[in-house]
Amino acid sequence: MKDILMAESIGSLYSEKKDGNVDTRFSSQQDVEGNLLAICRARNLDPQALVQAQQIHATSVKKVGAADREKTISGADSLITDDPGVCLMLRVADCIPIYLFDPLNRAIGIAHSGWRGSIGKIILVTIMNMNEQFGSNPNDLIIALGPSLLDCCHIMREEPLQAKLPEWGQFIRKQDNGYCVDVPGFVKKTAAQAGVKEENVFLSTVCTAMQDSLFSHARSTETGEPSGRFAALIYFKH
Ligand SMILES: [Zn+2]
Repeated sequence: MKDILMAESIGSLYSEKKDGNVDTRFSSQQDVEGNLLAICRARNLDPQALVQAQQIHATSVKKVGAADREKTISGADSLITDDPGVCLMLRVADCIPIYLFDPLNRAIGIAHSGWRGSIGKIILVTIMNMNEQFGSNPNDLIIALGPSLLDCCHIMREEPLQAKLPEWGQFIRKQDNGYCVDVPGFVKKTAAQAGVKEENVFLSTVCTAMQDSLFSHARSTETGEPSGRFAALIYFKH
């Protein structure tokens, strides 16, 4: 498990392979529950506080609260809350887990930004929802992009869909073996365009495809290594 330091009053972290897979597509429900329980215990978190996003690679944001504890929210790729009694969670292995914190209005969010969600600007949709629900001003937001498939390993043999979109231009580089795509770079720029201060955006330098301690969809596809997902969590420290 690794912590991302966003603010003293906020816990934000991601689990690792050694903490076990957290997705029932890749191991039994019992194993997944056991792994989540151990992750929560390690951070003194109430496992009943977990609210998970089901994730469908879209851009739907759901506001959650006490009534959603222990639930998986269907059709959501982004969760937001101002309820200190819940812990927001995603499952990832290459897609970007985006952690958001509004210190003024005491609100948090977590968004699953794969290439589709990034094209759809889920980070912007999440910021807009935090503004609507909690009055969050992008100027005050602290945002972290967790480990993901970085441009070093995000190589597409065919021209990627984003190449048709001018605003992606600077984030796509043609090279001998195809096209190299910098998805976190695009997400960071989207945050800046929304009004988030550059110094308030933390970008992880960990590439999931190269980091053996993390699950990676790309690496599993290439090497046949067993697939899995690691957890990304954000919560209020009590
Ligand atoms: Zn890489």
